[in-house]
Amino acid sequence: MKDVTVRYGNTKKILVTGGAGFLGSHLCERLLMQGHEVLCVDNFFTGTRRNISHLLDDRNFELLRHDVTFPLYVEVDEIYNLACPASPIHYQFDPVQTTKTSVIGAINMLGLAKRVKAKILQASTSEVYGDPEVHPQPETYWGRVNPIGYRSCYDEGKRCAETLFFDYHRQHKLQVKVVRIFNTYGPRMHPNDGRVVSNIVLQALRGEDITLYGDGSQTRSFCYVDDLIEGFIRLMGSGPDVAGPINIGNPGEFTIRQLAELVLEITNSRSTMVYRPLPPDDPRQRRPDISKAKELLGWEPTIALREGLERTIGYFDQFLTSNSQKDA
Ligand code: NAD
Ligand code: UDP
Ligand code: UDP
Repeated sequence: MKDVTVRYGNTKKILVTGGAGFLGSHLCERLLMQGHEVLCVDNFFTGTRRNISHLLDDRNFELLRHDVTFPLYVEVDEIYNLACPASPIHYQFDPVQTTKTSVIGAINMLGLAKRVKAKILQASTSEVYGDPEVHPQPETYWGRVNPIGYRSCYDEGKRCAETLFFDYHRQHKLQVKVVRIFNTYGPRMHPNDGRVVSNIVLQALRGEDITLYGDGSQTRSFCYVDDLIEGFIRLMGSGPDVAGPINIGNPGEFTIRQLAELVLEITNSRSTMVYRPLPPDDPRQRRPDISKAKELLGWEPTIALREGLERTIGYFDQFLTSNSQKDA
């Protein structure tokens, strides 16, 4: 990134854990554009140097390979704690490490925040609601999570991290911010993590079968990455009385089949839909209630699914072209 960015008055040193991942890379980029110094910490489990390669030359950007399950001693003003694999394939690859990352990682980052008196934001998830029987999900809903299933390392790890954040807040007076992120998509999504948007877009672009799990009638609500990052920034900038948890997501709800139909239409692909077994504990429906984000942060999404998909498809199209050139 060229060093021609607008510098704002209040320049801060900001730590982003998981900064080389999908969301983290967009967040680092946005914070640098605001003129802050960014320390990106990542163990590269699912993140890549490619995601942040355009930031490496910025003198306000620093990259540190580090696993958050180990203590970290640095001096910063704010912490965004995003480190954790987010897709079922990745978080189920080493479930014990997933729980450690969420729980021990949270303890270490909270200990760091306590020592340096930094504000700290936790990337939590709509998965804390499990397979919900309340729809849409408000923050007051306690969720329906299987504690011993295949998704539990992620769901329960994130729930425990939320507990730690609120206990450090009450016990040590830390300024915490907890955001519950609903399904987010956009450029730099991992191409092989099995998530529905990247899977379907790549299948459509390659002319392969579109895989619908179950009958494709389950629903999700998809938020474009730029909208989500705006929500992060607003939450971090909110007053000390706003700790959350706050849902950030796009309330537009679609069945997976509708998503596939839209991708097929935009890509003009001839791929056909095929049906595969539904993974265990797959939630039937998910849609955020974002009243709290609207009221406390003045936030709501601005990018409709079609527009966000067009941008994402453009990214994956280029990704496939540059990879095929490398293979040639
Ligand atoms: P991602 O997998 O692209 O990013 C996670 C990053 O954390 C990666 O760069 C990975 O290498 C790093 N990481 C993993 N374990 C680590 C460890 N022990 N130490 C240091 N770094 C580690 O996923 P993402 O989609 O960018 O998700 C970022 C955060 O947002 C995660 O905490 C995730 O749970 C949360 N979230 C994401 C979504 C979504 O739709 N993308 C939804 C809900 C919550
Ligand atoms: N910690 C860290 N960086 C710091 C301060 C603490 O990684 O700058 C870790 C430390 O290893 C500890 C954890 O954060 O295990 C929790 O710290 P806290 O001070 O809350 O607890 P304690 O050190 O008393 O166990
Ligand atoms: N899904 C699908 N086809 C795919 C990948 C996923 O039908 O190729 C379904 C999956 O079963 C789930 C939904 O799409 O019902 C969203 O899956 P994803 O892994 O993206 O997110 P999550 O289940 O964590 O919300």
